[in-house]
Amino acid sequence: MVLKTNKNIELVAPAGNLEKLQAAVHFGAHAVYFGGQQFNLRATTKNFSIPDIEQAVAYAHKHTVKAIFLLNAFLHESDIPVVTEYIQHIKHIPFDAIMISDPGMALLVQEYLNIPLHLSTQMSTLNHLAVKFWASHGISRIVLARETTLEEIKQLREHTDIELEIFCHGALCISYSGRCLLSRYLSGRDANQGNCSQPCRWKYSLVEEKRPGNHLDIIEYAHGTEILSSKDLCLINRIPDYINAGINAFKIEGRMKSLYYTANVTRIYRHAIDTFLNGGDSNRYSDVWLNELNLVSHRPYTEDIFNEFNNQSFDGIPYIRKALFMGYCVDQQKNLVKVFNPVYKGDSYDAIYPIVNNQIHDSPVTVVDIMMDGNSVSMAQPNTIATIIFDKPLSQWAILRKRL
Ligand code: SF4
Repeated sequence: MVLKTNKNIELVAPAGNLEKLQAAVHFGAHAVYFGGQQFNLRATTKNFSIPDIEQAVAYAHKHTVKAIFLLNAFLHESDIPVVTEYIQHIKHIPFDAIMISDPGMALLVQEYLNIPLHLSTQMSTLNHLAVKFWASHGISRIVLARETTLEEIKQLREHTDIELEIFCHGALCISYSGRCLLSRYLSGRDANQGNCSQPCRWKYSLVEEKRPGNHLDIIEYAHGTEILSSKDLCLINRIPDYINAGINAFKIEGRMKSLYYTANVTRIYRHAIDTFLNGGDSNRYSDVWLNELNLVSHRPYTEDIFNEFNNQSFDGIPYIRKALFMGYCVDQQKNLVKVFNPVYKGDSYDAIYPIVNNQIHDSPVTVVDIMMDGNSVSMAQPNTIATIIFDKPLSQWAILRKRL
């Protein structure tokens, strides 16, 4: 079987706010995705107002990065007039694509905008007939169902030239293609309206009917019980396989994650894609990539969602945090750092940078002094912009992390 390999691969990074969007752009995204204040599947992120959206798209385009806007909520009847009006407010903005889930939203967007439409993974597209159906309704890119195996992607690609995207990294839903009523049932917050309270991550215990209040732990591992929670996806070592199978775009999950997560995961996947496309040896960097991806907060990683690579094991789903995001350099000339966690004099951190021309420029740095109002102080507070002197100069956008 001859596979149709497309060498024009796109890395699509999450942008939970303007600052994270800028980090994604700076650290190697080909495209960024983000939502406005309505009708996308992350109602609780600090989503973009209309002026924010205009600024975000302008920033992305200035750096030749595509801007994908999310209108991927499922619509109730009462939403239709509201979304129709919302579209009037954003139709002047030059997005590169709009991501939808609900066919009704597709109809509305097509009525008012002439723009490529991407179909969300939530529509569970698993086969080439479904792909054909969506293509005939004007969809230009399909984010395949998370349930699609590598072998199925190869078969599907034999039948279509449409752009295919998959998620390559981040949290997984335990429910089918992310369609789930658990949150709405247990907390009244609808996951399909972007408002999931993540009850699959809550800790559960067992109560016998006649012994109310007697909570019995269901012990799976030393740290507690998460009977429904899934591992996190990590396909860093499978990028060549998926490109050879015919995937055009890789999406990183995590609009709710930190700026550090966005930057570090984006630069690692960009390096993995570039290494493969430039004929480099992916195995050579595998340890470096995994090491870096282990330094962002995550649950244990899996590349084997459906055991297709025969890697069956279960050892609990504890949350792993091996590094803390301390801040990033906002002004190199003035030594200004935006601080996210308390920074102390004498602390040592990693300064991490985008990977350029195959070169990793990260370096250890030590805090020599912290200046506030012209005085030397011992600590810089979170949520401030502080003058911090390191033992070596930082470049703009250097991200600081502390290993734990
Ligand atoms: S409760 Fe868990 S499985 Fe359900 S939508 Fe939310 S994150 Fe996904």
